[in-house]
Amino acid sequence: MTIRTRFAPSPTGLLHIGGARTALFNYLFARHYGGEFLLRIEDTDKARSTGQAVQVILDGLAWLGLQADAAPVFQSTREARHVEVAKELLANGRAYNCYCTADELREMREDAQAAGKPPRYNGYWRDRDPALAPAGISPAIRLKAPRGGETVIEDLVQGSVRVGNAELDDMIILRSDGSPTYLHAVVVDDHDMAISHVIRGDDHLTNTFRQAQIYQAMGWALPEFAHIPLIHGADGAKLSKRHGAVSILEFRDEGFLPEALCNYLLRLGWGHGDSEFLTRDEQIDLFTLEGVGRAASRMDYAKLTHLNGVWLRGADDARLTDEVTARLPTQCGVSASDEAQARILMLMPGLKERAKTLLDLTASAAFLARTAPLPFEPKADALLTPDSRAMLARLIPLLSASDFSAEGVDALLRDFATAEEKKLGQVAQPLRAALTGSTMSPGIDVTLAALGREESLKRLQAVV
Ligand code: GLU
Repeated sequence: MTIRTRFAPSPTGLLHIGGARTALFNYLFARHYGGEFLLRIEDTDKARSTGQAVQVILDGLAWLGLQADAAPVFQSTREARHVEVAKELLANGRAYNCYCTADELREMREDAQAAGKPPRYNGYWRDRDPALAPAGISPAIRLKAPRGGETVIEDLVQGSVRVGNAELDDMIILRSDGSPTYLHAVVVDDHDMAISHVIRGDDHLTNTFRQAQIYQAMGWALPEFAHIPLIHGADGAKLSKRHGAVSILEFRDEGFLPEALCNYLLRLGWGHGDSEFLTRDEQIDLFTLEGVGRAASRMDYAKLTHLNGVWLRGADDARLTDEVTARLPTQCGVSASDEAQARILMLMPGLKERAKTLLDLTASAAFLARTAPLPFEPKADALLTPDSRAMLARLIPLLSASDFSAEGVDALLRDFATAEEKKLGQVAQPLRAALTGSTMSPGIDVTLAALGREESLKRLQAVV
């Protein structure tokens, strides 16, 4: 059997992290078994679907590196096929026309509720002679669902889940205006796209019983189902904006690396021994549904941030330099010249040691892109006393003669500190303040080397 999975978001809002994790699981599952991962945009709710939301989904998936193996299927373009299947069910006697008006249906619900029963359709047109159909009313098509017995789903995560068929009424598959219902469209599309495994949030579990009935009525084999628990906030409540970022692109803007986010989302609800850090290849290698837990997972932003720091330290310096360069204008109001980019790249090994997000990294690299006179943080300003300025003035001629290699500068500063009868830190701290405007930077030797002679001296002159 060819393994084929799909991610089927409705483009009615953001791509949130729950959706991203569903996409990731589908992607990894398909890759693990050498199958295909497809994308279906479920845009049948025309009032709520927007082109902008489609773009957000595509951008989010691209950013996460979860591209589908084929062009996306837009559910709205398949309406004729959904209608065709509904008509086929009608022709086969597995569905029937229902001529109830909205008022009649409301009355039916009210009667059921008055009798203490759930508000269900009572099957009024199920076995009625179609010749009795009232004139001038276009019917909805309802599935003739089994009345007795059970519908059982062997879910690959939830185990065996069942419902008594008496609990389910005859659902509408085609509305009286001729439009297919969502549950029906999903079944037809999953069948036609030859989806072997439907992996989705467990909020869809109850839909599955009804969907199974459509498969059975069409004589189609059911795909395997795997309903994965939702992601909750740290307090156990459904994850929402008040817990922190929820939209994928928000995580991007807040400086998370896509591989860190994917790594975190994978570990949230899936486990494989103690392995915490997994590359995409390792994830593909290890991912199966057996590792997916049944309990809802809790989003832990602190843990994600920590993990991001680890991924950041392992990330390629040139790539991080590009990220920082792209963020500097909006984040710090300064753009990096080619020269500044070369400095950032050179200092990147030291910068990334200290950052947890790309926002931290960008903020810490901004001094390399600025020109003297620098803005000074209050703590840095406090270090630049008249005495230390005088000391820096004595350092300038020595530095001018240095080769500006990190080693050369280090030796020079040590000698200078000895001559000044100071500890190295007492020299390095005011020097750092003068060069960076801040009290924190990578080692002073590499900082000087990255800034280079001309720029370093310019900055020192500006404070002395
Ligand atoms: N379109 C549904 C959603 O966005 C997913 C349906 C499915 O995966 O079957 O929640």
